[in-house]
Amino acid sequence: MAGILFIISAPSGSGKSTLVSELRKQVSGVEFAISWTTRPPRGSEENGREYNFTSREEFQRMLDTNVFLEHAEVFGNFYGTARKSLEEARSAGHDLLLDIDVQGASQVRARMPEAVSIFVMPPNPRVLRTRLRNRSRAEGVVNEEEVYRRLNEASKEIENYREYGYILVNDILDRAVAQLEAIVLAERYYRNGEVIAYRSRRVLEVAAACLQFNSQERLKPVLEAFGILGSTGQQQLDFGEDSDREDPAQDGEDPNDD
Ligand code: ADP
Ligand code: 5GP
Repeated sequence: MAGILFIISAPSGSGKSTLVSELRKQVSGVEFAISWTTRPPRGSEENGREYNFTSREEFQRMLDTNVFLEHAEVFGNFYGTARKSLEEARSAGHDLLLDIDVQGASQVRARMPEAVSIFVMPPNPRVLRTRLRNRSRAEGVVNEEEVYRRLNEASKEIENYREYGYILVNDILDRAVAQLEAIVLAERYYRNGEVIAYRSRRVLEVAAACLQFNSQERLKPVLEAFGILGSTGQQQLDFGEDSDREDPAQDGEDPNDD
């Protein structure tokens, strides 16, 4: 059975790594490509687990020898996916998940248009700032400059959402995990005829609701909050109160809610 290539992208701090790690606990048979990066390890990250950490010189050497399927510079560091990850998953017939930025996703889509692409959005800029800060704090230090750099980049990345087949808004974690799981199971069902073991109809409905072309109403408030739809300029994003707490009561409800 042919493996499916999944691409997942999101502005930094949206919760993509959290979602992917939850997905891997719940769905078997999805391999995760460990990227190469020139950025230093963060917090509890380990070489060979979250990333293969390397020097700029070594990364350049790998680029020159055509090691990478795709690569990009993100926040001043280089990141790349080795071709080998794809070749190994293909020969084993496994699904492969690439956690890559919007530039890398566009390179992969151009070569492999059959890839299933998923874009994860934070519900609004205030929540994104809180998540970036809380993650920094958990790693030992809050670097405000880095938090604002990533926040400013978020709107530009979100502008690319139309390039993706599925869109998740990571507001309530359990719901976003269930949606990601539904997308994987639905694609396996449609492409490989794989049986969905439980609540199959519901799973297909949840996945269909996440298709980009079914998501316009659901995305409207998110796009407006990031200044992509409507009159809010990107320079005047509403970060709300300067608080480090996510307050769901202020985030608005998702119309696709159960
Ligand atoms: P990314 O991989 O997109 O950069 P992370 O997965 O590291 O983001 O998440 C950023 C921070 O937000 C982490 O501290 C994580 O625990 C937290 N987080 C992720 N998803 C949620 C959610 N739905 N609700 C609240 N906090 C979340
Ligand atoms: P972080 O440094 O926060 O782990 O990742 C920063 C950004 O780099 C994220 O958007 C992440 O998806 C992206 N990224 C991670 N690995 C790769 C990769 O191999 N290729 C590309 N193009 N982007 C990557």
